Amino acid sequence: MRVSVIGTGYVGSVTAACFAELGHEVICVDVDEKKVSMINAGKAPIWEEGLEELLKKHAEKRIIATSDYDYAVQKSDISFICVGTPSDEKGNIDLSIVESAAVSLGEAMSKKDHYHVVVVKSTVVPQTTEKFVLPLLESYSGKKASKDFGVAMNPEFLREGKAVYDFMHPDKIVVGAIDERTFFMVSELYRRLNCNVTHTKPTTAEMIKYTNNALLSTKISFANEIGNICKKMGVDTYEVMEEVGKDYRISPHFLNCGAGFGGSCFPKDVRAIIGKAEELGYKPKLLRSVIEVNEEQPMYIIRLLSKKMDRLKGKRITVLGLAFKNDTDDIRESRSIPVISELLRQEADVVAYDPMAMEHMKKVFPDITYCNSVSKALKDADACLIMTEWDQFRSLDKEFAEMKRPLIIDGRHLINPKELSVKIEYEGLCW
Ligand code: NAD
Repeated sequence: MRVSVIGTGYVGSVTAACFAELGHEVICVDVDEKKVSMINAGKAPIWEEGLEELLKKHAEKRIIATSDYDYAVQKSDISFICVGTPSDEKGNIDLSIVESAAVSLGEAMSKKDHYHVVVVKSTVVPQTTEKFVLPLLESYSGKKASKDFGVAMNPEFLREGKAVYDFMHPDKIVVGAIDERTFFMVSELYRRLNCNVTHTKPTTAEMIKYTNNALLSTKISFANEIGNICKKMGVDTYEVMEEVGKDYRISPHFLNCGAGFGGSCFPKDVRAIIGKAEELGYKPKLLRSVIEVNEEQPMYIIRLLSKKMDRLKGKRITVLGLAFKNDTDDIRESRSIPVISELLRQEADVVAYDPMAMEHMKKVFPDITYCNSVSKALKDADACLIMTEWDQFRSLDKEFAEMKRPLIIDGRHLINPKELSVKIEYEGLCW
């Protein structure tokens, strides 16, 4: 089939590359000319395992990139909206980028004679596809939904870092389509994947995505709250959760406590569904607490550090890990950000290392010291805070001997001090 993908960030570039791998012809559209040129050159605009290989394989054959909506709509049968849906200043969803994409698609559709399908893949609050995107498409195309064009909502569940794998091995594919014809066209795209495609209403599909992310976030904040209680009694939360997770009704996943969740999805999606609930006159107490626990969690690291040091002013504090999780260069809502802000507020001398995310973090904190290896970052440090679960941090040992004071505050349960050859002062965040 012929597909156009609007927005080539994390979701769009992976969607485009994977649809090409499934045999479809793909046109990528982005307003960022740099990304357009990168994709045409077979280069990934973001780091994601396996993405560059697929783009290299299909660029200028099954994938081309452009900033021209008219071309993309004329030369494809289905357009996927994959643009960002950030939070506004109140934490509610900001639909302005979706609006701009829908307007451009509508205008391009007004010049097309044939049936076209528009699929919202961006995460949008329930009712957005039918009550916001569909009317925009009708008004800017001058056409009628269901008759002249189809509309669907197809949420994306991929994990950053494993996005290509997740796209190709989904555990669910949900298509909220306004009619059978639309559903058939969208589900055909996924035919070669070994997964049933669920047909539901657009609003239900939107709610499935939010429920998924809200429940995962809730598990993390729950594990963190239990971890904070355990810490006060010297109980190892990881031992507790290992047993709790054996209950099939609970499952062992997402019970790891630590510095909290970040990324471009969980925090903003939980806030967005809170905003939607309030707009509907409901106060979501549990979901508000999920965010509250998550915001306090990184500050426990600073509290543990402050207990060990009289004052942080002038102390050389090494932050290991800047990405919001391992295997990605994404720093959006990374828990390192509030930690570094607080260290700077207390006038500490902050040194940082991350295998992938330093370039992005330089834009947020241009004035801290970035080192190109863990050893350099740890040299002469007064303390080290571990913020991201990078595998390479698990095997750290002799590097700690370079520190002025080998004080390690572990926010991700990566270090076992008993297994090290060097002696360190160790504090686990909640264990
Ligand atoms: P992103 O910010 O990485 O990418 C968005 C892209 O859209 C950018 O390349 C930007 O230049 C482009 N863009 C902006 N305005 C445009 C326009 N008018 N026309 C064409 N392109 C335009 O965002 P992302 O992380 O890929 O997320 C996209 C959506 O998918 C969001 O709604 C997000 O919540 C959702 N989502 C993200 C993930 C994830 O792990 N990142 C997972 C599931 C769902």
